[in-house]
Amino acid sequence: MTCPKCGAEMNHQADKLVHPVTREEAASMTPALDGVVESVFACPGCGWIDSRRGGEPLRKTEIR
Ligand SMILES: [Zn+2]
Repeated sequence: MTCPKCGAEMNHQADKLVHPVTREEAASMTPALDGVVESVFACPGCGWIDSRRGGEPLRKTEIR
């Protein structure tokens, strides 16, 4: 994931489980975890924090 502020490559900081709040999120829910995985990213350049919910192909391979 690239930082929207300075364009640096952001570090994957954490994953947390959240309850789905939209129909799209409910559809992308991870059945095994009973929720949506929210991935948090931090920029090493400017300190910008961003997050992204659900549908992480990377995460699926990590679980397996
Ligand atoms: Zn940045």
